[in-house]
Amino acid sequence: MADTRDVQDDILLARTMLIDGEWVGALDGGTFPVHDPADGRVIVHAPAGQAADVDRAVAAARAAFAPGSAWRTMTPQERGRLIWRLADLVEHHAERLSALDSVDSGKPLDEMRYFDVPFSVDVLRYYAGWTTKITGDTIPVSYPAASGGRFHAYTLKEPVGVVAAVVPWNLPLLMAVKKLAPALATGCTVVLKPAEQTPVSMALLARLTIEAGFPAGVVNYVTGDGENAGAALVRHPGVDKVTFTGSVETGKAIVRTAADDLKRVSLELGGKSPNIVFDDADLDAAVAGAAAGAFATQGESCIAGSRLYIQRGVFDEVVRRLADHAASLKLGRGTEPGTQMGPLISAEHRDRVLEYIRIGLADGGRAVTGGRAPESEGYFVEPTVLVGVRPDSRAIREEIFGPVVCAVPFDTEDEVLRLANDSRFGLGAAVWTRDVSRAHRMAAAVESGQVWVNCYQAADSALPFGGTKESGWGRETCRENLEEYLETKTVVVAL
Ligand code: NAP
Ligand code: MG
Repeated sequence: MADTRDVQDDILLARTMLIDGEWVGALDGGTFPVHDPADGRVIVHAPAGQAADVDRAVAAARAAFAPGSAWRTMTPQERGRLIWRLADLVEHHAERLSALDSVDSGKPLDEMRYFDVPFSVDVLRYYAGWTTKITGDTIPVSYPAASGGRFHAYTLKEPVGVVAAVVPWNLPLLMAVKKLAPALATGCTVVLKPAEQTPVSMALLARLTIEAGFPAGVVNYVTGDGENAGAALVRHPGVDKVTFTGSVETGKAIVRTAADDLKRVSLELGGKSPNIVFDDADLDAAVAGAAAGAFATQGESCIAGSRLYIQRGVFDEVVRRLADHAASLKLGRGTEPGTQMGPLISAEHRDRVLEYIRIGLADGGRAVTGGRAPESEGYFVEPTVLVGVRPDSRAIREEIFGPVVCAVPFDTEDEVLRLANDSRFGLGAAVWTRDVSRAHRMAAAVESGQVWVNCYQAADSALPFGGTKESGWGRETCRENLEEYLETKTVVVAL
């Protein structure tokens, strides 16, 4: 049976941070308010971690990583068992975790129940299975003459060390798990930092790592804002690798800082993903996919299909059906039954999204539906479909990160490829067509980390997820993600 205690008690977990197995406040006692985006009320005051708090957390993670520590001497199988146990706990507390992110980030509860939480469980189980399968190679050596002898050479795969995981506010639990699971599977230790807007599900996740039996210091959780706690973490000489999801600007700042001591960095940044509908597509499926691409998670999604290219013959029909769908979406508090789209994360972000709508309208656009913020204390924006926006408009070129999609007609495959690839981003892309040759041609030619054919946002723990161009470095979920948390050591033995 799932635990259904009042979400209010769980929210209060975020009053403290987890450092070296202890629940602590910031050393200077500072806190910051966390808001419910559905009405702006303060739900908890979380510790405003500073450099001194980050020092403690990194020291704990370093100690937990020291040779001979409980964590370093654990067998891969024992490590896998702990991660699996954490997956069981996340599954057991699915309702609690769903409610926490729903209150904190505004996401509809059903999205948490049917996507974020089950996917988090799956990611943990996927990486739990990898712990016993991380192996080096034995490598035949061709130059025995060098020492007049023969050699036995092999590689060891070793954890990179202390990992700083900096996480955004749009999918707080899932983003944390996507970083935590491979770090733990490879034997690293971790300092997690949530976005200041959304610490509460990570506080419960941190508590569950202790319940699962991870030794103190293996998983630490520090709150605070990006400019202080985040920057201190990225700068810290005791951190070996930074894994980050968030904005391009912050990603670039992290790379500049990490250059000082050449920390490993992986980045999952934004996108402006093209969603391409050909006139031979199954339009029912394409419209449903376009709606999910544009409006799931209020459009606060790095893989939002925010550029919708529609072949001219079906342009009016697809736009009309998408607009009808958008207009029918029920906006409301994430935890309210029946809510299909929640509020945006903050008043500041809502205003940023509204400014992009204004820019799109000024640049030739027309709102077929939406375009405004409904009267409310919460940070809502109507699901919005724009047509006619000029191709050079910032509304078409920049990531809006809200429920706003620009629909653009095209005539030929060459033309839409040119439009789709004319972007500094390369995260997601989708193609809707019944022509199998065209589907594969497009999949090969679109510049992005993943292409969905006749579906949108399909995700799986085994599938590489990440971007090309300014959408980031590296791939999350999948086998090759493990390499980002491992170093290769070559051992040569003269026989
Ligand atoms: P952001 O600044 O990139 O925040 C993401 C994370 O980085 C948060 O935990 C943040 O901490 C932290 N951070 C900020 N500055 C940092 C620094 N100098 N060093 C280390 N960590 C730092 O994103 P945002 O300002 O919240 O959102 C702005 C835009 O970013 C959005 O509108 C959207 O376009 C994009 N975004 C993309 C994704 C994605 O999934 N790719 C997710 C979120 C946002 P604090 O929040 O505590 O300051
Ligand atoms: Mg910020």
